Amino acid sequence: MLLAWGARGGIRNTRGHEAKELATNQDIIHLLEEQEKGLAINPLLLHWCSNCKKFFEKDKFDLQWIFEKHDSTSKDKLDGKCLGCRTILDAHEEDLKKKMTEHNYESLKLKIEFVQDMGLEVAAKLLQESEEVLEKFRTQDKMRAFLGTLKRVDNYKTILRSVGIIDEMVNDA
Ligand SMILES: [Zn+2]
Repeated sequence: MLLAWGARGGIRNTRGHEAKELATNQDIIHLLEEQEKGLAINPLLLHWCSNCKKFFEKDKFDLQWIFEKHDSTSKDKLDGKCLGCRTILDAHEEDLKKKMTEHNYESLKLKIEFVQDMGLEVAAKLLQESEEVLEKFRTQDKMRAFLGTLKRVDNYKTILRSVGIIDEMVNDA
């Protein structure tokens, strides 16, 4: 998070320790070393993209406050992405939104699985919402398939039983 902001690992604290010396997490130490290497080539490569894990200059970087989890009530996570990754993620979010409006269970399911498998950092609330829509599609398809079997209803008992089954499906939804 601090690296997205462009904090410099090499800057010493008041006791003269570098962040790298104080960091205990191996991943963070590795990142600070990467940052140092990049800065040696270009002193403006300060901002770390959490998607492609590389450092970028400020004008090639996008910093936003986001909801960390789907149930977060405030945007309290600082999210930094390079402009290239941001464009790609925006396109995936748009595609996800589009598939949430089309009634196609399989296509939405594939999209959600792709996002999850690739670890794409799309908005947490959008992803959660898409999973709820997917579940709705599943129930609707089930009901539609069932109703399709009822094109010709022979007697009153069948109708009553059908109403019971549809009620169950709605309750499951
Ligand atoms: Zn990136």
